[in-house]
Amino acid sequence: MTGLDPDNWDDLRRLGHRMIDDMVDRLATLRDGPVWRPMPDAVRAALHEPLPTGPTTPERLYEHFRERIVPYATGNTHPGFMGWVHGGGTGVGMLAELLAGGLNANCGGRDHAPVEVERAVIGWAARIMGFPDETTGLLVTGSSMANMIAVVTASRAVPDGLALRREGVGGRRLVGYAAATAHGCIARAFDLTGLGTDALRVLPVDADHRMDLAALRAAIAADRAAGLEPFIVIGTAGTVDTGAIDDLGGIADIAAREGLWFHVDGAFGALAMLSPALRSSLQGLERADSLAFDFHKWAQVPYDAGCILVRTPGRQAAAFAQSLAYLSREDRGLAGNAPWFCDLGPDLSRGFRALKVWMTLGTYGTDRMGLMVDECCAVARHLARRVDEEPLLERLAPVGLNIVCFRVRVPGVDLDWLNGELVKDLHESGVAAPSTTTVAGVRAIRAAIVNHRTVAADADAMVDALLRLLADRLESAAE
Ligand SMILES: *Cc1c(COP(=O)(O)O)cnc(C)c1O
Repeated sequence: MTGLDPDNWDDLRRLGHRMIDDMVDRLATLRDGPVWRPMPDAVRAALHEPLPTGPTTPERLYEHFRERIVPYATGNTHPGFMGWVHGGGTGVGMLAELLAGGLNANCGGRDHAPVEVERAVIGWAARIMGFPDETTGLLVTGSSMANMIAVVTASRAVPDGLALRREGVGGRRLVGYAAATAHGCIARAFDLTGLGTDALRVLPVDADHRMDLAALRAAIAADRAAGLEPFIVIGTAGTVDTGAIDDLGGIADIAAREGLWFHVDGAFGALAMLSPALRSSLQGLERADSLAFDFHKWAQVPYDAGCILVRTPGRQAAAFAQSLAYLSREDRGLAGNAPWFCDLGPDLSRGFRALKVWMTLGTYGTDRMGLMVDECCAVARHLARRVDEEPLLERLAPVGLNIVCFRVRVPGVDLDWLNGELVKDLHESGVAAPSTTTVAGVRAIRAAIVNHRTVAADADAMVDALLRLLADRLESAAE
């Protein structure tokens, strides 16, 4: 016996049915458990068993999964999870992961249906975002990778840019622009691509946390005067700290006038295009040369599922395709169906991420997804009102989308310290899990409503728990 298939397929089938039953039960009863709980040392240690040299039954491993992993997962499926920007996933997305695992398709290329599903999904994404039909793109791990692909693609689109693929970027003085509120992965993309983080000009923002466009124009002019080569301007649709949306139309105008590549990081915010009520706030996004966003955030597709779209056909392939004899494309047979997705990004082997996107969008349809996005924003507005009404709470930023930044404000205490401690208290309470950020130089409690399961009562429960924990702390400090 050399193969790895089971002797008894029925045992595997039974185990699989049980797994599905258990996971469906879990999704159906999420509210009964805590958002998150700390992992006991013994459990953490048990997860680091020595390398298994002999066999263990999958039934036994599944018990370990139930005991050691499920109770101590991130918690982002739970309606009380409001930290960072995490999608909640769906049951149908979970099942799609099972199906994709069963097919075990490699979507780097070749002529097979999973590749066509990814093409269909990229076409849907282009339609949602107002991009043209001929848009190219691919699914990647997340917006970090999607933004990096955009920076690479844009840098190869400058005059003589293709030479950079052989010569490297060291001989050129390419510079790009983003606001101070841009996500850290933008600077990382400049780092990893060899452009260097100094080549990313970090622009100030206005009172609404949007890129200062006068500063953008001035920075471009100064760089040109200094003999540098501006090549990209990166706007953000939904900043990670407050959810602000840069003036995308204004940036598009400047980029067009200056001949720069206009990229939008819309990791979560771009999905507001699904909402007829919110779409106008993203005006200009549809003019971008490229767009990065995540299906795993506001579109509720299970991790991981990021997406890069590039408006002009050929640009992405010009930046990434290689001609290697062993990957030759044929006119027919399994090696046909060029161009392949491996020509559009750095990965050769690629999983069937498209299936969970295809099944999620297909199950709900874009209208219902748009309503879900609206509902998240309505919960955020409810939370903002509640914060505004509470005398001990202070809101720290406008709520344009789905993120509320606020803090506890009591006299005579280091507020940055207190708010940081209270968020940890909240996590350990199991009631809710917001995160923290810095807004205008102060520590903020940050609630991002990205999970389709979160309703107004969950936001109220978070505030109630926070005020209770605050009262406890003030009481024990007085004793
Ligand atoms: C989450 C986020 C990213 C990074 O995306 P990943 O999917 O985590 O790689 C980039 N930009 C913004 C605005 C984000 O919210």
